[in-house]
Amino acid sequence: MNEQLYDNSADEQMVEEAFQHLLNTYLHSKHRKKKDLIVKAYNFARQAHKGVRRRSGEPYIMHPIAVAQIVSEEIGLGSTSICAALLHDVVEDTDYTVEDIENIFGPKIAMIVDGLTKISGGIFGDHASAQAENFKKLLLTMSEDIRVILIKMADRLHNMRTLGSMIPSKQFKIAGETLYIYAPLAHRLGLNKIKTELENLSFKYEHPEEFQQIQNKLAQTEAERDVLFDEFTAPIRKKLDQMGINYEIKQRVKSPYSIWNKMQTKHIPFEEIYDILAVRIIYDPLDTNTELTDCFNIYIQLSQIYEAHPERMRDWINHPKANGYQALHVTLMSKKGEWIEVQIRSRHMDDIAEQGFAAHWKYKEGDDNNDEGELDKWLMTIKEILDDPQPNAMDFLETIKLNLYASEIFVFTPKGELKMLPQNCTALDFAFSIHTFLGSHCIGAKVNHKLVPISHKLQSGDQVEILTSKSQRVQPNWIDFATTAKAKAKITAILRRELREYQKNGEETLIEFLEANKLEETSENIDKLVKFHNLSDKEALFQAIGKKIFELGTNDIDAIKERVSANSTNWKKLLSLPFGLNGKNKKKQKEAEEKGFAPIEKIDTKKPITLNEDTLQNHYIIADCCHPIPGDDVLGFVDDNNRVVIHKRQCPIAAKLKASLGTRIVAAYWDTHRQLTFLAQLSLKGIDRIGMLSDVTGILSKELDVNIHKLTIEVNDGIFEGDILLYVHDVEDIKTIKRNLQKVPGLTTVARIE
Ligand code: MN
Repeated sequence: MNEQLYDNSADEQMVEEAFQHLLNTYLHSKHRKKKDLIVKAYNFARQAHKGVRRRSGEPYIMHPIAVAQIVSEEIGLGSTSICAALLHDVVEDTDYTVEDIENIFGPKIAMIVDGLTKISGGIFGDHASAQAENFKKLLLTMSEDIRVILIKMADRLHNMRTLGSMIPSKQFKIAGETLYIYAPLAHRLGLNKIKTELENLSFKYEHPEEFQQIQNKLAQTEAERDVLFDEFTAPIRKKLDQMGINYEIKQRVKSPYSIWNKMQTKHIPFEEIYDILAVRIIYDPLDTNTELTDCFNIYIQLSQIYEAHPERMRDWINHPKANGYQALHVTLMSKKGEWIEVQIRSRHMDDIAEQGFAAHWKYKEGDDNNDEGELDKWLMTIKEILDDPQPNAMDFLETIKLNLYASEIFVFTPKGELKMLPQNCTALDFAFSIHTFLGSHCIGAKVNHKLVPISHKLQSGDQVEILTSKSQRVQPNWIDFATTAKAKAKITAILRRELREYQKNGEETLIEFLEANKLEETSENIDKLVKFHNLSDKEALFQAIGKKIFELGTNDIDAIKERVSANSTNWKKLLSLPFGLNGKNKKKQKEAEEKGFAPIEKIDTKKPITLNEDTLQNHYIIADCCHPIPGDDVLGFVDDNNRVVIHKRQCPIAAKLKASLGTRIVAAYWDTHRQLTFLAQLSLKGIDRIGMLSDVTGILSKELDVNIHKLTIEVNDGIFEGDILLYVHDVEDIKTIKRNLQKVPGLTTVARIE
């Protein structure tokens, strides 16, 4: 029997019940039953965390138990992972060390706990670069043992589920980081259910009102969807019964976050989102060998009932997605004239779709040649990227992140080999995906036998032949043409190597030059040169000189040197002429400093700030990137000069700041008195007619008394499109304007541009 660790027996009972639930879940799984080890880990963790409570007031041990529960129930992992999950905060929060864990639980569990300890807290904590270093370590550990990241995912999910007890600025930081890195990682690992929940929870904390509105609308339309679903699936069930197949048909309702995302990107109201309902058919194969053919046979049956959309069939059966997803997607026309997507997948495929690659392990028993191929390939890419160390941790993260969300296309090599690449990838990406040499010497490509530049975007089904030249070299602007993590990482690595060479040559040349001119090679002299050329440091000076030498070619260097040495009295000026160095302009920054924002005393990020006429004019700055107006969900970011910049919560720049410099995020709320006006942008669309424009401006200026800043109109083939920049007080103004403009005959869309 366990000793009493909590003074409160209700707590004691709650902890015990949570653990029993975990044990039961584990015992009902397909894993080998190592119950004793789990009990041992539980008792150890419980002892280690005794007396400590979470912010919510619960005994701390409830958190590791909950994480272990997710690991077992929702990711489908076994005893090693469950133990590591139970122990995941022990090293971080108590006096026990990784060695202690290793002595008691062995090297495997200790290794996983160690990986988890290294990345505890956020991926980026107070010291962004050190934490990004840790993130790299995590990715390395992950390529050795994927369970580290899977448990980390469970940890984050539980923290998101209990985020309500945190202070608002912490909520934004954690929610932001979750959306920025954990949801994409979950997607990449195929943990679809967890990804969706993480997105929804982030959305809920960042935009509570919109979240609630969408929830309400989903509830209001539920009955309607049920009827549609029943009517649509009735004939399908009949057919499947005739086939003698075992199946389950489910409604897939789009998540609030995805709905909101679509409303934002397409500028449409909830009512115009047509794919809220999808239908999922999950079947048990008739025979072990017929899993794939059963799927297509089901499709054939369905296409006899409903007309299929010719362009919307997606065969993820023969070409699984990189995250392992397999299914056949078809879009069918219901008898009421609506397109409905139907996803057909076997039970096995469904498990993988919901739980990701971990689900593979469930089917692993007695089957050694399972295909984790795509995951392995991805982990290899990560390893390759890690092999080229990047000095800037944030750039590195961006590079990795790029490839997390991308969906795939298929292209062919000239020999007919199939290659899978992310959507929107270019010929250059393709070249790098085959070989670094091919990429770095690429001058263009032939796509379907037609000549295209390296920046050409590839389409699924393209046949691509890469053209190279030995004299071709990697150019800095190639970074803009590359979309895959691999190509980007290779390009920056090559450019960096080149820069180091420039630097070396530049330094040698300069020293030779100084010696030849009897000038001292002191740091003071070098500093003078750096300042004179308006460069950041001596490395930049050496690089600039080296680059110039390269550009002019070797023969010319002597000529330059001669010219320079001919007049050594004014050597600073002379040096600047032949090398033509240019520096960055730091004037802008200075101007901003001189502008004299009254920096208020040290900003306490724990206290939410209130935005009103007074504070906005004197202390806070409205961000240029997203132009928030009163009523928008916003947050503040404390910049290097202790000023608070106000961003919209969904602003991409703010997302990056939340993830990288979360401790500088401060919660902000509007409290304005409708005196200040802010710029907002509306886009209009409709069918053109005579008088349309005057109707629009009439409403704006006469009826609503709104000040128009800028108006652009374009009419093409009878379609009227316009952009208006106008001054408003707040979000309410925008709503009124939208309502009034929607009354203009012919005007179909009025949307605020975010
Ligand atoms: Mn934890």
